[in-house]
Amino acid sequence: MRKMMAILLMLFTITAVSAQDPVIGKYKKALIIGAHPDDPESMCGGTMLLLKQQGCEVVCVYMTRGEGGITGKSAEETAAIRTQEALNSCEVMGIRPVFLTQIDGNSEINKARYDEMRKLIADEKPDVVITHWPIDSHRDHRICSMLVYDAWRLLGHNFDLYYGEVMTGMQTQMFSPTIYVNIDSTVMQKRKAYTCHVSQGTAENVVKWHEVIGRMRGREFQCTHAEAFIKQRWNSSEILDR
Ligand SMILES: [Zn+2]
Repeated sequence: MRKMMAILLMLFTITAVSAQDPVIGKYKKALIIGAHPDDPESMCGGTMLLLKQQGCEVVCVYMTRGEGGITGKSAEETAAIRTQEALNSCEVMGIRPVFLTQIDGNSEINKARYDEMRKLIADEKPDVVITHWPIDSHRDHRICSMLVYDAWRLLGHNFDLYYGEVMTGMQTQMFSPTIYVNIDSTVMQKRKAYTCHVSQGTAENVVKWHEVIGRMRGREFQCTHAEAFIKQRWNSSEILDR
């Protein structure tokens, strides 16, 4: 019995380790699409940096400028502050930022917004996109995910699509990842990037909120810090209804 348990444990370990590929290591251009400034970085900043180190061009897309994210300030003031924070963060990572035109807390999902997201992706021509997992307590995150998913379908699945997590439990819900990336080598630079978003809390708090997720995934993946994903599947019999 004990021998069988050991074999099962060994098989489980091999399976878990092999789950690292394919998020990193084979892509030439990645778009990381988040609803708000700080979402791409907290969701997968470590993976973005690893992709970049391996020669992949990485673009960080913010669907809004975080207009609703500072209590007591107008949408315009908040957008200006959070845009600058996003620019600072992208500078730390050496990654190009792109801003879409949705408004934080007032995101829309309609034909024009589907077209906007699809056009961005078609113009940028990534071979991989990472965005929010669609089941999330934040409406903007859900909308962002659905817009990207729709683009993936209408562009003929011409890029690989992965979903990541943001503040799981509070925001991302029911997320059971199948792919892990060990980010021990990039976690400090990731922290430096997302703590550029100073309007979102003290560096100490922000680290606490986000790194608890990375540590939990690290424990699951037998390292210290990890990011985790689910890859969108498809098959050739899928019906494209429009
Ligand atoms: Zn967000």
